[in-house]
Amino acid sequence: MFRRRARRGLADSDLALVARVVPGWRHLNDDQRNIVIADADQLLRRFRWEAARNFELTDNMRVQIAAQAALPILGLDPGAYAKVGTVVVRPTTVRRTRVSDGPVPGVVEESSMYLAGEADEGDGPLVLAWDSVVSDTNHPARGHNVVIHEFAHKIDLLDNGFDGTPAILDPGQRLRWIAVCTEVYERLRRGEQPTGLRDYAATNPAEFFAVATETFFTVPVELAGSEPDLYAVLCDFYGQDPASRVVS
Ligand SMILES: [Zn+2]
Repeated sequence: MFRRRARRGLADSDLALVARVVPGWRHLNDDQRNIVIADADQLLRRFRWEAARNFELTDNMRVQIAAQAALPILGLDPGAYAKVGTVVVRPTTVRRTRVSDGPVPGVVEESSMYLAGEADEGDGPLVLAWDSVVSDTNHPARGHNVVIHEFAHKIDLLDNGFDGTPAILDPGQRLRWIAVCTEVYERLRRGEQPTGLRDYAATNPAEFFAVATETFFTVPVELAGSEPDLYAVLCDFYGQDPASRVVS
């Protein structure tokens, strides 16, 4: 007789690892920690986890990814990751060439970039490069977090638009969101003054949202200082105030 083995969730022995990898863990109170742990457990069980060819995806790696992904949804509805089905982990970044219309009609431009992660536009897989996950985890003060970045794209996609404006509660909040994000984004595009966000945020509105999100969770005090309006709309959306946790 064959029995379906339940998918592995979080074990007690994983808790020290969770505490090590979640940005700002030491500033969370017990209730918040318990929610992150419970969500990480759910994400471990719910996602389909796949390793790229010739790569061994271990339980330890899955725990690190699920635990970091649990932080942004601490104050959100659990359905925030409804667009995440499969998580694929690769050993390292891949080089992608993208072809786009150039400034002259009929001419295309090719640019290549090294991708640390990808979030499919729709229900497709979320892809992470393990070496980038490790590097971001070990250096949270740099303000980068590829796990949070890619999962933010999937939150953005909830309303089926890859546009940097996630499905937001009420119309007033949405208007404020658009006004604040557009102002900072345009400034970043013009290169006018430092915003505390890395340049990649100027790529398009979707990347702006993903970069703003990873900055918000990894270096919240810095973002609150450099862009208080942006920080405030992110607090409103995520239902969390990570900078106040640090200073309180
Ligand atoms: Zn991105």
